Amino acid sequence: MWNSLKSAIPNIRLKHGAIAGFDNKLLKNIQYPINNNGYVLPECNGINWAGSIYSNDEMNTGDSINYQNIIEKNNHLLIDEDISHIKSRWIGTRASLPDYLPVVGPIDQDKVFVLGGLGSRGLSLAPLLAETIMNDICNIPSPISQEVKEAISPLRFNDD
Ligand SMILES: Cc1cc2nc3c(=O)[nH]c(=O)nc-3n(C[C@H](O)[C@H](O)[C@H](O)COP(=O)(O)OP(=O)(O)OC[C@H]3O[C@@H](n4cnc5c(N)ncnc54)[C@H](O)[C@@H]3O)c2cc1C
Repeated sequence: MWNSLKSAIPNIRLKHGAIAGFDNKLLKNIQYPINNNGYVLPECNGINWAGSIYSNDEMNTGDSINYQNIIEKNNHLLIDEDISHIKSRWIGTRASLPDYLPVVGPIDQDKVFVLGGLGSRGLSLAPLLAETIMNDICNIPSPISQEVKEAISPLRFNDD
């Protein structure tokens, strides 16, 4: 799938990655994401997610993924952890454009909108960007400025 995406959008940059979920009582009291070399998130549904792995190679299956790397990045928190304790795994792709900004907005007069290129920040940015599109469609004030809208517009590549 990613090869066909790369040929359709030559400028797209794809980084693949993974995170791991642990059920460890020492992590249960974490109240905020703890970032250092890696990160560990507060408990959600009995799991504390920890990340992350970056790779240029596609990750179709979990077999080739070095989850030990996540434990090493978070060794101040994942003390005595080992990959056999991993309860859940999540594999995904970070898709970016050359300027590392997302693409958000209408692509033509018919009000066909796109929202993509979220790179490594989709979980944080998606709600705000979805609200931006929704407000445009409903013709109500936007949560972002006109300047930011232009910076992330899909039409910004038209002159390239
Ligand atoms: C390891 C890792 C850690 C990350 N950590 C963070 C973080 O800490 N904070 C943060 O803000 N962001 C983080 N991100 C980035 C975030 O996950 C992405 O930016 C976000 O998921 C992109 O959202 P999306 O909806 O564009 O794409 P995706 O989440 O990739 O969703 C695309 C969906 O479309 C489906 N799909 C694909 N092709 C088809 C098809 N032909 N038909 C039907 N369905 C299809 C896929 O199965 C998938 O469900 C991380 C990403 C990775 C990989």
